[in-house]
Amino acid sequence: MFLPMSFHLEAEFIVARQERLRALLGRRRLPFLIVSNPTDIFYLTGFRGSAGVMAIGSRDCVLWVDPRYTLQAREQTRGAEVCEERGGLLRAAVQWLRKKRARRVAFENSHLTYEQHIKVRQGLPGRGRLVPAGGLIEGLRYIKDEVEIRCIREACHLTAQVFKEVLRHAQPGVRESDLAAEIEYRMRRKGAEGQAFETIVASGPRSAFPHARPSSKLLRKHELVIFDLGAILGGYVADMTRTVYLGNPSRRVRGLYDAVHRSQLRAIERLRAGASAGDVDEAARSELARHGLARYFTHSTGHGVGLDIHERPRLGRGEGSALQPGCVVTAEPGIYIEGLGGIRIEDTVLVGASDPEVLTPVSKDAWFVA
Ligand code: ZN
Ligand code: ZN
Repeated sequence: MFLPMSFHLEAEFIVARQERLRALLGRRRLPFLIVSNPTDIFYLTGFRGSAGVMAIGSRDCVLWVDPRYTLQAREQTRGAEVCEERGGLLRAAVQWLRKKRARRVAFENSHLTYEQHIKVRQGLPGRGRLVPAGGLIEGLRYIKDEVEIRCIREACHLTAQVFKEVLRHAQPGVRESDLAAEIEYRMRRKGAEGQAFETIVASGPRSAFPHARPSSKLLRKHELVIFDLGAILGGYVADMTRTVYLGNPSRRVRGLYDAVHRSQLRAIERLRAGASAGDVDEAARSELARHGLARYFTHSTGHGVGLDIHERPRLGRGEGSALQPGCVVTAEPGIYIEGLGGIRIEDTVLVGASDPEVLTPVSKDAWFVA
């Protein structure tokens, strides 16, 4: 077990996040913000239910939940008043905003639906305006605090542990889907809350599909096998990929693997405060280009991870976001060659004040198995 099952976020970290958000709202002269994305609500209050509406103002923070979640919300929520609501959560939030005479209310433009937007706007007093918050909370979540880093570190540790155990079962004659099931079972047994995404086990020519679903195909000798897995712990995710070869690889396959491995190391070296997301992508891409493999690298080099499996920043071509200490991202170059298969190597990495820290330190050298 990695963390106690009833893991709660410390109140001081929650309150600090709310204060950082208030400062950002203040700078944009937005006295109120409505939050309805459950992941953002968890980040800002500690409440982990699948439904809720939250409003934060310069002095108050209120969370409305339906009766299914009242007890849970009272237990988990920090730094917010919990209100049980039977007649529509958004309506209750709007009534509260009316009472506060809120005229400018920010909303999560990538989350609130068109229908909800109309409902809120119509409910606001007189000339009340709804203002898009434009990635305000995503901006906060971009840099992880101490509690978040601890959760991601533990999720990564658990994931790495499970991979090492399951690798022993990667033998010719074993079904891809059985290996995926073994991974997911062992994650649960070690205390994971679930999978960050559907586990990928893809062998032979199927490994050329970057997002292959595990199938009933049996692993065979002289095949590449891609494993992409990640546990959730304390709400936070891990993300790791290893590629192995069943048997003794040919010179060509060794050359391809070494090129991807070098490309991934180049990317990790660039994961430093001040570098731009695009620089990291360029480092990985140019290494593959040096080996004439650029055309087989068909996705971006990585992505932020945290409460969601894909967060800001995207480590892609020309992305300008500057990395900062506390960013957690993946480095995952890969090549996919029709008929032969794919090779991808991925780690979750913490950008520190000095050197990057690989949170999923599973060997990349011992890749011939069976
Ligand atoms: Zn992955
Ligand atoms: Zn990934």
